[in-house]
Amino acid sequence: MTRQTVTEIRPQVRQYGELTSLEIELAKQSDSLLILPVGACEQHGDGLPVSTDSIRAEHVATAVAEELAGRAFVIPSIDYGVSPHHGNLPGTITLDPRTFVDIVTTVAGQLSDSGFTRILVITGHGGNMAALGVAQQVLLGTHPNLTFAYSPVSALATEATAILPRTEVSGHSGESETSQMLAIDDRLVDSPRLTAGATALDDLLPRARLSRTKSPASAVTFDQYSENGVLGDPRTATATAGDDILGEIVAKLVAYSREMLRL
Ligand SMILES: [Zn+2]
Repeated sequence: MTRQTVTEIRPQVRQYGELTSLEIELAKQSDSLLILPVGACEQHGDGLPVSTDSIRAEHVATAVAEELAGRAFVIPSIDYGVSPHHGNLPGTITLDPRTFVDIVTTVAGQLSDSGFTRILVITGHGGNMAALGVAQQVLLGTHPNLTFAYSPVSALATEATAILPRTEVSGHSGESETSQMLAIDDRLVDSPRLTAGATALDDLLPRARLSRTKSPASAVTFDQYSENGVLGDPRTATATAGDDILGEIVAKLVAYSREMLRL
């Protein structure tokens, strides 16, 4: 029996999971870019949900795919990440870093074996970056023809973050992340419960303070920074700042994605 084929993909579809097998065959023939959002399920202080990183990664991935209409699709996300450093605070479910590497290399390897050549991973959780670097090296060995790129979310917004009012210590569940969540959907934020966490280097315990040096790198569990696991003061976050941050991130990822599609 002859297999059916399709000559176009339904134009409104951005999610790989909403494509049919026939449409996926066509997406492969057109050498589409696949975007993999990865996040985390971990404590985000008293006012943000535990899936904050997954929600932001998914939001950015979908916005990038929207800009590249029909040339990129968002593959089903990985909503658990590498979060042992948040394990002492409520709500965290972490993968072993080796399991995370295995999941990423399994998914990317299968897609490469099936004929896709370009994968961009967008991680809402900075703690996944080291494992993504390992996954990239594994894939270079097993699938050298696959272009596998990965990127953080918040760290891309250098300009919007530079003008964001932030405390000396800032980061997890702080001004930037809370602003992004307010911009995505303010119902996701329990605003009256937002509280400041660690805000000044001098207030940190010695080992926590040392961990704020980028290189050499050391790490502590987040209960060592502050009781609520927050870095910064999320009470100053605004949806407007979040829109600017997300806009810069999406613009940079769209530009990079266009380069990937030219390969
Ligand atoms: Zn986060």
